[in-house]
Amino acid sequence: MKTVNHWIGGKTVEGASGNWGPVTDPATGAVTTQVALASVEEVDTAVAAAQAAYETWGTSSLAQRTSILFRYRALLDAHRDDIAALITAEHGKVHSDALGEVARGLEIVELACGITTQLKGELSTQVSSRVDVSSIRQSLGVVAGITPFNFPAMVPMWMFPLAIACGNTFVLKPSEKDPSAANLLAELASEAGLPDGVLNVVHGDKVAVDALLAHPDVTAISFVGSTPIARYIHTTASANHKRVQALGGAKNHMLVLPDADLDAAADAAVSAAYGSAGERCMAISAVVAVSSIADELVQKIRERAEKIKIGPGNDPESEMGPLITAAHRDKVASYVTGAAAQGAEVVLDGTGHTVDGFEDGHWIGLSLLDRVSTDSDAYRDEIFGPVLCVLRAETYEEGVALINASPFGNGTAIFTRDGGAARRFQLEIQAGMVGVNVPIPVPVGYHSFGGWKDSLFGDHHIYGNDGVHFYTRGKVVTTRWPDPSDAPTGVDLGFPRNH
Ligand code: NAD
Repeated sequence: MKTVNHWIGGKTVEGASGNWGPVTDPATGAVTTQVALASVEEVDTAVAAAQAAYETWGTSSLAQRTSILFRYRALLDAHRDDIAALITAEHGKVHSDALGEVARGLEIVELACGITTQLKGELSTQVSSRVDVSSIRQSLGVVAGITPFNFPAMVPMWMFPLAIACGNTFVLKPSEKDPSAANLLAELASEAGLPDGVLNVVHGDKVAVDALLAHPDVTAISFVGSTPIARYIHTTASANHKRVQALGGAKNHMLVLPDADLDAAADAAVSAAYGSAGERCMAISAVVAVSSIADELVQKIRERAEKIKIGPGNDPESEMGPLITAAHRDKVASYVTGAAAQGAEVVLDGTGHTVDGFEDGHWIGLSLLDRVSTDSDAYRDEIFGPVLCVLRAETYEEGVALINASPFGNGTAIFTRDGGAARRFQLEIQAGMVGVNVPIPVPVGYHSFGGWKDSLFGDHHIYGNDGVHFYTRGKVVTTRWPDPSDAPTGVDLGFPRNH
């Protein structure tokens, strides 16, 4: 059976803890791989490699860093299919979707290639007599990233390219459910010329995560995952005096006003709810239909959802793959089977779905629940599967109030032809990312990604300007070069003033 080991100091380091985790092909249900689960000592080794590499990487020139990043960008581009194939084999998402994930990760590498403009600093001359002030940003040291299963390539790429471009060294702890893509990303970075130890991958579970959170040489933690773990990471890392950004789970709403193009809204709802089998933090999981259009919208969503072809991710005909584990599939199914008892109308029931020839895969079909109440489990929990809830509101105001009452605030979207309503929505809605007739408003690399409320703990969004800010700390230098003609200043115990 294939094994996935750590990548430390520029080479493969075999797991030595004796603990291994199973990696399953979700389409067949077969365990294909064993992943090493690191001990505290193995995490220490990875941090030590990163700390040693920081000695030189932290003072490397911007020219050196960016030339490596440009080579890395070219290698990633050439290996898009290989990375996507690894994602499909362990996550289950269809190949085209995996390619999309790689493309969005590449955007951050491209941003990192241009780090020179982001780190230019600021200079004010003659702020006082012969005094200049400059603000610069410097790297932190060793930083760590802990990432979820649902984007095994893109989410790590949200973090490490920018972190290393800023002069830090990095320890990545990927999801143990689909670990292989992370190793390929690290191997390609080495091939691009990244010095040994600048990017390390240590595989593991809670043991490895807790070791990173406690390690005195880890200066900052970037986390992406579920809300309970994000809250734990933020609390623990903060208590250990680390800088931390912890992105959590979501329940993303799509408000459809009566004047919207209903065909476009239905296309968007189906794509955003069921793409990647709903295992996206930006998936639309709740449609709020305003007023009279609700019945027609539900009908249009149903017609489209019924046509989606479910199958293995490596079959080009498949539009939606399986869920990550059988246990997760069963949990997702429980929300559908329990929905009617909690007042919902089950328009489509995807439970019990099977795929011929792949009987042991983690399959579930598409489910559509109408007239879902806000106090039902299907609405309150992040289901993270192909289950779309439809709620009804009489007015725009009622719809906005419903969305703003959610504890989550990741992404949200409005579908309308009314520019005034869309503008109002942008200002009134409590979420970090807003789409206007765009169902999955994942920002481009040069804007930052992040939610509000229980969808993000910490002060910084990820990548973009916030990412650069997160991975650097400010320093302000005040300089005075006296002229020989200046009169002596003498001793002055007063607080210095500018004049
Ligand atoms: P998860 O929280 O279970 O795991 C995320 C990471 O934390 C993994 O590396 C895992 O090994 C580690 N981990 C799990 N339990 C832990 C514990 N008790 N202590 C310490 N570490 C632990 O999340 P997941 O199931 O892998 O991913 C899906 C979740 O991630 C969803 O909730 C989804 O919304 C969220 N997500 C959010 C974003 C975002 O940008 N906000 C993006 C992608 C995914």
